[in-house]
Amino acid sequence: MSEVFVIGGGLSGAEAAYRAAELGVAVTLYEMRPDKMTEAHKTGLLGELVCSNSLRSDSPDSAHGLIKQELEAADSLIMEAARATAVPAGGCLAVDRNLFSEFITAKIKAHPNIRLVYGEVASLSSFDTGAAVVLATGPLTSLTLAEELQHILGGQSLYFYDAISPIIDADSIDYDKAFFASRYGKGGGDDYLNCPMNAEEYDLFYNSLINADKVTVRNFEDEKVFEGCMPIEVMAGRGKDTLRFGPLKPVGLIDPRNDIKPYAVIQLRAENVEKTSYNLVGCQTRLKYAEQFSVFRCVPGLENAEFLRYGSIHRNTYIDSPRHLNKDLTLKSMPHVYIAGQITGVEGYLESTAMGLLAGIYAARKLRGLDEVLPSRFTACGSLVGHITGATADNSSNIQASNAQTSKFQPSNINFGLLPPLSVPIRDKAKKRQAVVARALADWKRFIAESYR
Ligand SMILES: Cc1cc2nc3c(=O)[nH]c(=O)nc-3n(C[C@H](O)[C@H](O)[C@H](O)COP(=O)(O)OP(=O)(O)OC[C@H]3O[C@@H](n4cnc5c(N)ncnc54)[C@H](O)[C@@H]3O)c2cc1C
Repeated sequence: MSEVFVIGGGLSGAEAAYRAAELGVAVTLYEMRPDKMTEAHKTGLLGELVCSNSLRSDSPDSAHGLIKQELEAADSLIMEAARATAVPAGGCLAVDRNLFSEFITAKIKAHPNIRLVYGEVASLSSFDTGAAVVLATGPLTSLTLAEELQHILGGQSLYFYDAISPIIDADSIDYDKAFFASRYGKGGGDDYLNCPMNAEEYDLFYNSLINADKVTVRNFEDEKVFEGCMPIEVMAGRGKDTLRFGPLKPVGLIDPRNDIKPYAVIQLRAENVEKTSYNLVGCQTRLKYAEQFSVFRCVPGLENAEFLRYGSIHRNTYIDSPRHLNKDLTLKSMPHVYIAGQITGVEGYLESTAMGLLAGIYAARKLRGLDEVLPSRFTACGSLVGHITGATADNSSNIQASNAQTSKFQPSNINFGLLPPLSVPIRDKAKKRQAVVARALADWKRFIAESYR
């Protein structure tokens, strides 16, 4: 084998193609636009931003700031384009979207190791199993290819919609009000954290929920498909008690502080083994972010909740990655196929870019017969891989495969909840984040030095 084939010239595909080419291998990059457009793209340019022109916070001590620093330390094409086409946006990095995509397109077209081919790739079977293929077709993967992928993976392994509940920083929960317990004492005693409400507190929460503003449904997002993952506000609209007989039912739970069964309960489930973040079970929502902030802060125990990510429900094609991906992003059933970008189950422009960067590095190193090198879970990129492959950190911080995948896999953006806690805890939040960032960057620089050798 002598060539990397990258399918999809979005953020992750452009990054993967450029990185593999920079590492000295020949690359063919396929992009179906402008011949065949997705529901959201507007141009035939590579690396088009489909919605906001913001790449989020540029503060070095934020989670998005960290992933930017990692990408820049790896000479990312997407970050180079972003810096070259930045527009003023306060503490965020925002870009002129046309200049941004034109920059990426020009760099790809000018690269001597890259051949750009316009046209849809309808099947993975057209590639020899001896080749290295990077699938980076994104959340709006063409239907023909998505159907083939579903067939390859089998069963319920490709999701087309994303229903996400908010995720809260564990340190921001009031543990004097919330209590650990599983319904009827089944499972582990600390599997769920429960925020109990009396009738008056439930009234307050309910009223603020049904009066809150929702995000408008985009015209290609059919309301009917959301029946299977109904937003909490839609369920609440069906009657005042619907939630109390649904996701907020108090059955099998007794508040140990007063030995009373609560009137309603919001249950929180840990997002990671270290229990640094919790998702609000059954609270998938289309409420605007500011509304989620105030609605869920009405819940006793969550008055000071810090949202690591807000809930959302939208069109999104992604793989049940914990079941199907190896830690080097290859498909277990087709080890010559690397999966990159949002379709892996990461969420966001830079997160998708990061998975493209890693896939490009891995594919190029494999072609060159070099050893596999993986980033540690202490890095932002490594923690995203940890999330999508269901891997946990061992003491040496390497990515370890884990079978502990019990509930439906949900995509994630980068947030500090994905990064393992410090071995020596720091109470001051700003100092804690600085220490987590410093640890990540030290590991990431080692990874890049080794990978680019
Ligand atoms: C409507 C929408 C809005 C979003 N808004 C934001 C946002 O504001 N901020 C944010 O951070 N994230 C947002 N995202 C999420 C995500 O970050 C972006 O979708 C991001 O572009 C994903 O990068 P990617 O490389 O995985 O996919 P894409 O950038 O979509 O790239 C995939 C490429 O593959 C091509 N392609 C698809 N199928 C084929 C095929 N069979 N053959 C050849 N080419 C193919 C597509 O044309 C496209 O160019 C949004 C997603 C959607 C769907």
